[in-house]
Amino acid sequence: MSGRLEGKVCVITGGAGSIGQATARLFVAEGARVMLVDIDEASLKALSSEFGASVVGFSVTDVSRSDEIREMFERTVARFGRVDVIFSNAGNSGVICPLAEFPEDEFDRVLAVHVKGAFLCCKYGIASMNDGGSVIITSSVVGVRGDPGAYAYITAKHAQVGLMRSVSKEAATRGIRVNTIHPGPIANDFQHRVEKSLSTVMNCDAGEFFDQVIPLKRHGKPQEVAQSVLYLASSQSSFVTGSLLMVDGGMSA
Ligand code: NAD
Repeated sequence: MSGRLEGKVCVITGGAGSIGQATARLFVAEGARVMLVDIDEASLKALSSEFGASVVGFSVTDVSRSDEIREMFERTVARFGRVDVIFSNAGNSGVICPLAEFPEDEFDRVLAVHVKGAFLCCKYGIASMNDGGSVIITSSVVGVRGDPGAYAYITAKHAQVGLMRSVSKEAATRGIRVNTIHPGPIANDFQHRVEKSLSTVMNCDAGEFFDQVIPLKRHGKPQEVAQSVLYLASSQSSFVTGSLLMVDGGMSA
């Protein structure tokens, strides 16, 4: 039986991270060739022994830099011949603090990765992409709801939805689909770091708090996010574009 991404070339940003790695493993198992993109060179190197060089490429690229993104897409096409799927997933978390104390440079730093990074992936990636491809942007459950404190992160995750909706209409003329995925709290280091600062602000265990308010009563797994990304990347979602897929255990319901 052939895989759901047989013959497809997929670019994954934040590819050295938890959700990026889980998605790369699933994509490769489904027949894809993958370009893993991240600023974390050491983690990319550590991953290189896991995958064969004919199947996975590695690119140390800052998604907020247009020269680096442009060059990364050129190298992907030179190496694998095409681009069919872009998973724009790189992210940083930023601080949590009252509005009056929120540092402006921190706001810029977080928006640069999530918003400008996703914009540059769309701008240069779609230009080098085959017609009929799929773009998936990782937003978050906080891309559809607000809470005090994480001003940069929550603003960035909402902005990605506006970008997705607008780009989906232009890209549709070439049969390219563009969607956002919205994970709730995932059991990984990224979320543990966020919960550590939140616990201080909330004066309770933020991890336990989330398990209470998530209707499925637990954190998600990176592999569960990857399965939903696979759905949006593959032809199983061939009539799905401009949409938000919640992968949050019901948290936003
Ligand atoms: P992670 O920290 O394991 O992965 C994020 C990766 O992005 C890291 O490898 C990091 O080096 C990379 N990165 C950061 N800045 C970059 C830049 N400028 N250029 C290229 N790469 C860069 O965390 P994760 O949980 O795998 O996060 C993946 C995405 O999922 C992020 O966009 C995050 O906001 C989103 N998300 C995570 C959760 C969660 O609970 N973990 C929930 C909702 C959404």
